[in-house]
Amino acid sequence: MILELESVFQVDGARVPFDYAFSMADVAIGGEQPFVSPVRVAGEVRNRAGIVTLSAAASYTYDAPCDRCAERTVRDVTVPVEHALVKALENGPDDDYIEVPDLKLDLDALVREDILLALPTKYLCKEDCKGLCPICGQNLNKGQCSCSAPKDPRWDVLSQLLDQ
Ligand SMILES: [Zn+2]
Ligand SMILES: [Zn+2]
Repeated sequence: MILELESVFQVDGARVPFDYAFSMADVAIGGEQPFVSPVRVAGEVRNRAGIVTLSAAASYTYDAPCDRCAERTVRDVTVPVEHALVKALENGPDDDYIEVPDLKLDLDALVREDILLALPTKYLCKEDCKGLCPICGQNLNKGQCSCSAPKDPRWDVLSQLLDQ
């Protein structure tokens, strides 16, 4: 969606509300296309005493395997999208401000970038996911496998020494 911002920049107190959805189904991450729902974007651009801000929430459903145990994990995610908008940056590029020289804002592109930046580096089914046994591949969240049970008896001697 392209937001026309001329009126909001001109009038103190003006607002441009929006509530719409766009698709990120084409985005591939690790061989998956995890954005299984449209991304809903709801919020507004507002002029408060000449300061123009964009304030919105982007919500979507994400479906991908856990990075540790590979269990499919579906999660509803909401990302805040907050930016100050200016016609021109006076001191060069600045991450705090979005420049809109022609007073048209490509909201999809901005939201898409914010969503990708907010993705966790590791996508886990749960915070304390135990992962897979490196020997037999058993999902350790579903119970211990037998690989870790029998230990070399020599280690027992060592741990007894360490305990003393
Ligand atoms: Zn997991
Ligand atoms: Zn195992």
